[in-house]
Amino acid sequence: MNIQDNAVVSLHYKLFLVEDGDLVESTSDGPLVYLHGHDNIIPGLERQLEGMGAGDKASIVVQPEEAYGDYNNGAQEEIPLEALPGDLDLEEGMILSLLDDQNNQHIVVVLEVKDDTVVLDFNHPLAGEALRFEVEIAHVRAASDEEIAHGHAHSGDGHHH
Ligand SMILES: [Zn+2]
Repeated sequence: MNIQDNAVVSLHYKLFLVEDGDLVESTSDGPLVYLHGHDNIIPGLERQLEGMGAGDKASIVVQPEEAYGDYNNGAQEEIPLEALPGDLDLEEGMILSLLDDQNNQHIVVVLEVKDDTVVLDFNHPLAGEALRFEVEIAHVRAASDEEIAHGHAHSGDGHHH
């Protein structure tokens, strides 16, 4: 079958920044497996994968508004060092994963480390970036009713609720 809503897709990809061509990440540890049509991957990639089938390759460019959004200059915050876990060896440019009071995860970049505070950038590290994915579709299958009800793919060993 080809990629459509409620298909479970396995694909390999390499993700590059359009601006300077840097490789950001790749599926070297195994394919990405996701349920299509349930907002599990960035919208611009999901839209352009539609209709592809196993063995197909493509180079897909996604603009920031269909990826991680535009860069927001107001999304920087200075917080007390003591609000962060004490065992962090903070350095500028470091990427941290923080949980807020509501247990939402935030990926932040350390902009500046001061004596008692740290300036964090709450923009996604890829905000404002146009992205290029080199994809190769490994496998496409119909999702089970349970997967559709859950809104995600079940791939055996790795699945936990
Ligand atoms: Zn599930």
